[in-house]
Amino acid sequence: MRGCKRCLLREAAEDDTYASVMEKVAKIPDADRVPDEVYRKRLTACASCDHLISGVCMKCGCYVEFRAAHRRMKCPDAAARRW
Ligand code: SF4
Repeated sequence: MRGCKRCLLREAAEDDTYASVMEKVAKIPDADRVPDEVYRKRLTACASCDHLISGVCMKCGCYVEFRAAHRRMKCPDAAARRW
């Protein structure tokens, strides 16, 4: 797959990959999950970041749509943390 710079997974991947990631997001317990508004803000920050390629953060290798949903996760770019 050719990388899509600054694309979230929902924009870049095949539907089954996106669905699989969102299934995992849905299984995160509420106590470990950020509110929807925080989730949207995090993904907006990722969508303007040069480290995002086809939904994957090149700093950590995670699908950001999964990582951003976790309350205890942070943006891994220590030099310019966006969330
Ligand atoms: S470095 Fe931070 S803002 Fe950039 S894609 Fe990774 S998690 Fe998102």
